Amino acid sequence: MSRWEPVIGLEVHVQLATASKAFSGSSTAFGADPNAHTDPTVLGLPGALPVFNRQALDCALRLGLAAGCRIRPHSTFARKHYFYPDLPKGYQISQYDQPLCEGGAIEFLLDDAPRRVRLTRIHLEEDAGKSIHQPGATSLVDLNRAGIPLCEVVSEPDIGSAEEAAAYMRALHQLVRWLGICDGDMEKGQLRCDANVSIRPAGDSALGTRTELKNINSFRFVQKAIEHEIRRQIRVVEGGGQVVQETRLWDADAGTSRPMRSKEEAEDYRYFPDPDLPALVVDDATVEALRTGLPELPMDRCRRYLDQLGLSPEDARVLTAEAPLGDFFDAAVSAYGDPAGARAIANWIQSELLRELNRDGRELAACPMTPAHLARLVTLIEDGTISGKIGKQMFAEMYRDGTAPEHIVARDGLTQISDEGAVEGVAQAVIDAHPDQAAAYRGGKTKLIGFFVGQVMKQTGGKANPALVNQVLARLLSS
Ligand code: ADP
Ligand code: MG
Repeated sequence: MSRWEPVIGLEVHVQLATASKAFSGSSTAFGADPNAHTDPTVLGLPGALPVFNRQALDCALRLGLAAGCRIRPHSTFARKHYFYPDLPKGYQISQYDQPLCEGGAIEFLLDDAPRRVRLTRIHLEEDAGKSIHQPGATSLVDLNRAGIPLCEVVSEPDIGSAEEAAAYMRALHQLVRWLGICDGDMEKGQLRCDANVSIRPAGDSALGTRTELKNINSFRFVQKAIEHEIRRQIRVVEGGGQVVQETRLWDADAGTSRPMRSKEEAEDYRYFPDPDLPALVVDDATVEALRTGLPELPMDRCRRYLDQLGLSPEDARVLTAEAPLGDFFDAAVSAYGDPAGARAIANWIQSELLRELNRDGRELAACPMTPAHLARLVTLIEDGTISGKIGKQMFAEMYRDGTAPEHIVARDGLTQISDEGAVEGVAQAVIDAHPDQAAAYRGGKTKLIGFFVGQVMKQTGGKANPALVNQVLARLLSS
């Protein structure tokens, strides 16, 4: 065990999926020509006044409620000043001492064990634009992203490893997509993370000096960047040095970080309340309406699958990765009519449905098979109408065309042959046609039973009840 214990706190920026910007009417659509989505407010032109976007407030409140935060009935916007070419106003509208949400936690599983990372706060702010540095000494500025509403989710320093930091970020990603408040496209920068990292002697309670790693935009890089930083700090301290509080830039290509600037302090930003924006007043009725409208949350669903439906942690994790998949599963279990069918249904979804969807790059919503069809397929197998093997063949057509299972069974005459006399007739014919193998079996090579079963299944087009075939063959061959 290492003598050093890492301590990590994350600040995650979540781009809210609103149609227009946080304080003005221009579009938030991705991929337009540079500076196509600007207006006087975004450009910071004199006289332009911000008006806060109600949709952004609802998104932030839903996230705060889902994370169990306290909602501040009266929060304020502040100006956070800094100079940067992609920030034409010279300040970013953010929240400072009166954020919208405080407290709460993000819960998730790490190696199947429940974890809980407390949140300090969730506040609203606007995004900055983007500088594009060209070869030579030219830089271009694109303000399409400027003014897009963000939630900044700040965690307590509760995270104890790089792996846990990545799991936390995945859980947050899952939650914002689940709530429909962010599309979570990491490649478009819709979820971005700054990681604060320190180390302390194992068992100590005081926090060590931290560094802040900027510019981490994938789950894999969160883990790599933090692992790298922990190792670097241990090397510094064990070499007799001290960790310097600073902001470091993670370079994903080089797999390393470099100092960017010494840590800025709050006073450097010259925060003050934005005089152009009235206080954000959120009444109880609004909060309660949004709370009531929340869906079942991922961790609650996961616990229900584990505790009430007896699914394996792996099944529970996969089925709660995206809300629509679990909705499909729940609808199938309910159509089946008995929670005892949950594991079989989970199995079909895991092994067949997801494989087909992945292969085709298809969304579940575009799949014509209904949850009720899947439930009835499971019933047909369980009551012995069809064999599991035939069920798998039928699944392909159900998935592709949305055909009802009973229809396929009737049309193709797939009903399982469970009549002993019928099976016996085929089995006897197979034995008669293979006298050498029959003699070898009788001479002790009982493994040949598999060969005979295979032949009978072939003759019956896979429709014979396999258990019955085994039993009949064993009897005929030993007589
Ligand atoms: P800022 O980055 O604006 O100075 P805070 O001081 O509130 O903001 O801290 C931001 C993040 O840093 C939080 O997620 C917090 O948990 C984390 N943090 C603070 N101190 C430490 C520390 N010593 N080690 C690791 N993380 C820390
Ligand atoms: Mg910070």
